[in-house]
Amino acid sequence: MAKKQFKAESKRLLDLMINSIYTHKEIFLRELISNASDATDKLYYNAMKDGKTGITRDSLPIELTLDKENRRFVIEDHGCGMTAEELESNLGTIARSGSLAFKKENQDQADIDIIGQFGVGFYAAFMVASHVEVVSRAIGSDQANRWESDGTAGYTVTPCEKEENGTRITLTIKENTENETYDEFLEPYRIQALVKKYSDYIRYPIKMDMIRSRMKEKPADAGEDYQPEWEEYTENTTLNSMVPIWKKSKKDLTEEEYNSFYTSKFYDYQPPLCHIHSSVEGAVTYTAMLFIPAHAPMDYYTKDYEKGLQLYSNGVLIMDKCADLLPDHFSFVRGMVDTADLSLNISREMLQHDRHLKAIAQSIEKKIKSELLKMQKDQREEYEKFWKAFGRQIKYGAYVDYGAHKDLLQDLLIYHSSTEDKLVTLEEYVSRMKEEQKYIYYACGETIDKIKLLPAMETLRDKGYEVLCLDDNIDEFCIKMLASYQEKEFKSIADADLGLESEDEKAEIKKLTEENETLLAALGTALEGKVKKVELTGRLKSHPCCLRAEGPVTLEMEKVLNQQALD
Ligand code: ADP
Ligand code: MG
Repeated sequence: MAKKQFKAESKRLLDLMINSIYTHKEIFLRELISNASDATDKLYYNAMKDGKTGITRDSLPIELTLDKENRRFVIEDHGCGMTAEELESNLGTIARSGSLAFKKENQDQADIDIIGQFGVGFYAAFMVASHVEVVSRAIGSDQANRWESDGTAGYTVTPCEKEENGTRITLTIKENTENETYDEFLEPYRIQALVKKYSDYIRYPIKMDMIRSRMKEKPADAGEDYQPEWEEYTENTTLNSMVPIWKKSKKDLTEEEYNSFYTSKFYDYQPPLCHIHSSVEGAVTYTAMLFIPAHAPMDYYTKDYEKGLQLYSNGVLIMDKCADLLPDHFSFVRGMVDTADLSLNISREMLQHDRHLKAIAQSIEKKIKSELLKMQKDQREEYEKFWKAFGRQIKYGAYVDYGAHKDLLQDLLIYHSSTEDKLVTLEEYVSRMKEEQKYIYYACGETIDKIKLLPAMETLRDKGYEVLCLDDNIDEFCIKMLASYQEKEFKSIADADLGLESEDEKAEIKKLTEENETLLAALGTALEGKVKKVELTGRLKSHPCCLRAEGPVTLEMEKVLNQQALD
């Protein structure tokens, strides 16, 4: 039996396309500029292939013109253009992508950056335009053609005049309705912002006339009481930065350039503590430009904070905050990732959860960790700043998921040391442990000073044992989750058995306990309701008594848990 072809109800399909693929109307501009860039690329690549010289990217601008009065928005390129047939097939067939075909034909070209692939982006124009006119002249042809459409009602293609090759798209911006406004797409500053947001790294200059004002020159004969006057003028402005800073070579970039890029891009008033700039090629290919801020944003420790990295595909912004690229414990990192290796979904707004993205995320996680370790080793002061801002997040990361990230995070932890009187790493602690010392000791309290006064500290100090002083609520929970470091167990100084007494000493305490049974019982009765039990201990020196907890939940943890119950 002969196979029958599916028939798509084109009108309905177009309607669906226009109204349901994209979540933001503003995307239309990204799509049309991407198409203009693709068309210019095609011309550029073909010229290169044919050995033509003298063409530079700068001589092939993408030009935007706004005419508020007539509600027109024009996007013009000097690219390859389209013939009448191409207008028919590329713009008349939904999901036909001339760009994808071009990409396939030119696969051997290493440096190909063509963006289009789905053959639907163009129709995004109808989200904001009631009428779209495309005037195009293909390279090498004398004849230009006009494609016109009001959307779902169909389109026409007619011959027309156009002096140069390339494509000029004229949108008639829709009138505002009760629920929707479109006026913003006729405002130069709004358009400038959209270009910056989505198309900043398109490799051709995107130009538009911007109205600016300046002070008039002071006339030569101006008198004493001359008042400066202002005048408006238009300036043909390049809106995009074109070369992404991360595509530049590291050696061409100065610290100031990194810093000013960071402060302007992420609206921070302080330069970052450090940056990570890396290009990875191999199983996954990507370029990442990451920054570790010097301070936590206001909302960092609230649920309003949104983690994520900017994700670019061939220089076009796909997602502003791609959360999948950052694990929670490194949620403070800001920056961007640019990769061509993504399976984008049709709207190019979201990603299919693909293995490339996972691989990139893993690679990034490793990079962040090693950069932090490097800072910890070589720039301890900077690291302490980092720790002050984001240490909690790292501790929290080590604690959640039953310590699943223990190996990754434990070396990043630093704690105040009783003997060094500064913040130390677990590795440093273990390297200093006394030969006979069994445990990594820690003590908890409200402040470092208070912890140092704890009665049990004295004995450990006498033995020359270092004690980690933990003054953050989360500390002990985190330590308990880690349980050990380099096979040394953690031991709270409030624990029943500190492992300090010899067998003889233990026997001695046991003997004394039996001898003083009546006294201990009497003390127990006197303190009834306040303590559970009174017993003898070998851990005290000049203090008569101390408190200790029984079971896995210590006094300090109990305080935190009680507090949480009240919150
Ligand atoms: P995609 O860009 O994903 O291919 P579009 O719907 O955005 O899909 O565009 C469809 C096709 O129309 C493109 O593949 C390209 O062949 C053609 N096209 C669109 N805009 C232009 C332009 N400005 N110049 C030349 N060809 C264009
Ligand atoms: Mg496109």
